[in-house]
Amino acid sequence: MIRRLCVIGVGLIGGSLARALRQAGYCRDIVGAGRDPQHLQQAVTLGVIDRYETDLARAVQDADMVVVSVPLGAMQAVFAAIRDHLAEDAVVTDAGSAKASVVADARAAFGKLPAGFVPGHPIAGTEQSGVAASFPDLYRDKRVILTPTDASAAEAVARVRAMWEATGAQVTEMSAEHHDEVLAATSHLPHLLAFALVESLARLQDQREMFEYAAGGFRDFTRIASSDPVMWRDICLANRTSLHVMIERFSADLQELDRAMCAGDGERLLQLFSDARRARDRYVGK
Ligand code: NAP
Repeated sequence: MIRRLCVIGVGLIGGSLARALRQAGYCRDIVGAGRDPQHLQQAVTLGVIDRYETDLARAVQDADMVVVSVPLGAMQAVFAAIRDHLAEDAVVTDAGSAKASVVADARAAFGKLPAGFVPGHPIAGTEQSGVAASFPDLYRDKRVILTPTDASAAEAVARVRAMWEATGAQVTEMSAEHHDEVLAATSHLPHLLAFALVESLARLQDQREMFEYAAGGFRDFTRIASSDPVMWRDICLANRTSLHVMIERFSADLQELDRAMCAGDGERLLQLFSDARRARDRYVGK
């Protein structure tokens, strides 16, 4: 059980966590924090949080669990603002989509990594943002990756694990570096490709006609290009090393496909598409 949960950044991710924990009866009191009082009042009205603070030092007072779910570019400033105001038994975790950058931000803000700090990332979301888009079942049967640091206390890791399990999520652990490589391939590259494709078509002179004739495949492929631009700018910058490797790999594979197509090599195309379909059906379709 959590005595007092403080959610800094009550948007899609923080709001859904608060809703899920409330529904599970897992915390007594939920304090929300952020920059905009109107957003936070909306979260109170929706019953997502009990009350809010815009002063982060006050927000974390007496909280035994602090979840930071702001865009990656705001993490370091948030850590610095709460550093001297945390309760003695407080555990701090985050929901950021890249992990090595969050660990570096925490080290810079706290001086050294605290025993009560356990980085995390729920592998769940939608292309929506803001508290109005949050819902309690977002994490049910989804994965949450924790990337404990060398300094993370076992008890702090257990408390963060138990919190996420109370939402119905399956929790796994790995290093921050491995997390960033895996997510660069499975999430960050697909988002970047969706943004790039839509932007590329939007630059065409007859873009209106292009979009008018765009059908289901285009919609499916580009849904995630409606995601929040600030969040995705931050993710690309935070995970640029791993993402760059994936972009280079993907560019080479795309060129190979183009070469086969231009050479009229139907056999090669058939082989590529069949392999891709088998892999998707095996891992994603199930
Ligand atoms: P969101 O819906 O836009 O929510 C972000 C929240 O952070 C807002 O409530 C915003 O409120 C607050 N905020 C923004 N800048 C802030 C700052 N400088 N100081 C304090 N609060 C600030 O975004 P989200 O989708 O929940 O994403 C939150 C985090 O979760 C990000 O780190 C993202 O990488 C990660 N994540 C996202 C997804 C996804 O699919 N969306 C999935 C997994 C993880 P105010 O504007 O009122 O301050």
